Amino acid sequence: MHWQNDLLSSIEVGIVVLDREFRIEVWNQFMENHADKLPSEVIGKSLFSLFPEIEEQWLKSKAEPVFNLNTPVFIIWEQRPYLFKFASSRPITSDASHMFQNVTMFPLLSPDGTIQRLCLLVYDVTDEALRKLRIERLNDELKHMSRIDGLTGLYNRRYWQEQFDREYKLACRKQGRKSVMMLDIDHFKKVNDTYGHQAGDEVIRVLARVIQKSIRETDLAGRYGGEEFSIVLEDSDVDNAQKVGERIRRLAEAMSVEHEGHQIKFTVSIGVCEYTPEIASSIAWLDYADKALYLSKKSGRNRVTTFEPETA
Ligand code: GH3
Ligand code: MG
Ligand code: MG
Repeated sequence: MHWQNDLLSSIEVGIVVLDREFRIEVWNQFMENHADKLPSEVIGKSLFSLFPEIEEQWLKSKAEPVFNLNTPVFIIWEQRPYLFKFASSRPITSDASHMFQNVTMFPLLSPDGTIQRLCLLVYDVTDEALRKLRIERLNDELKHMSRIDGLTGLYNRRYWQEQFDREYKLACRKQGRKSVMMLDIDHFKKVNDTYGHQAGDEVIRVLARVIQKSIRETDLAGRYGGEEFSIVLEDSDVDNAQKVGERIRRLAEAMSVEHEGHQIKFTVSIGVCEYTPEIASSIAWLDYADKALYLSKKSGRNRVTTFEPETA
């Protein structure tokens, strides 16, 4: 029945028939084209010796229910991007260096009713996979962007606050000592009034970099408001937080922001508060740091004040 052969060769799906030893019995045109191997080169040979990219143990365990329970098995690209490592037919500009595949394995019944063969159908799902991966990447980017403050690259207030609430709960469960810091630029209105809003923005950006440089990667820094920043310091008691605050204060004081030929100097005021079990909520914790910041402002600015909740 030559039309059956025509059918096998014109179909845009890979068709492979394997015996129980995983030797190849049928190899259609699709497989020939993509593997660049003629049926005469593969028939009677072991699939695993021809395609070392296929893990023998893994495929045998996948095929087990096909042979022994007479049930089909599906392998989707999200599980494994491909079974056969075929080059992608997509332009090199796309990010697929290989063909993504969905594979169906189903049993072929012999005339005596036993299952001596299985059939593999190999579908090229590269377009679908690329579309899905692109959407996932876009979603990740959007998620990232929704958490980040555009001017400074630090977390924005909403996301910082969310994470801060989590930090508070962790602190309640005694997972290490933590401190929170509030920071506000001194006389910032004067910077804007004297040099303009753009200059002010540049100062905010520079300060954000100073903060990032002064804390650990595990610390949580956010832009809380216009020229206010909030930071959770992990594994930090009040003395440690005081030291980090002092480092930021000194570095900020030493900075000189160049803007349109002007050298802009600025200072910051800081308040810190270590978590203690008396602190009843995350709001209260941040409020204590804010009170300490207020004390820094009141007592002359350009300083770090620590707040002890038990003396409140
Ligand atoms: P203080 O020492 O008491 O903090 O004085 P201050 O002038 O800094 O007072 P305050 O913190 O209340 O003022 C903040 C000013 O920051 C007000 C606003 O014009 C400015 N500001 C807020 N957000 C931005 C921003 O994104 N860019 C710029 N350039 N300025 C901002
Ligand atoms: Mg302010
Ligand atoms: Mg200010």
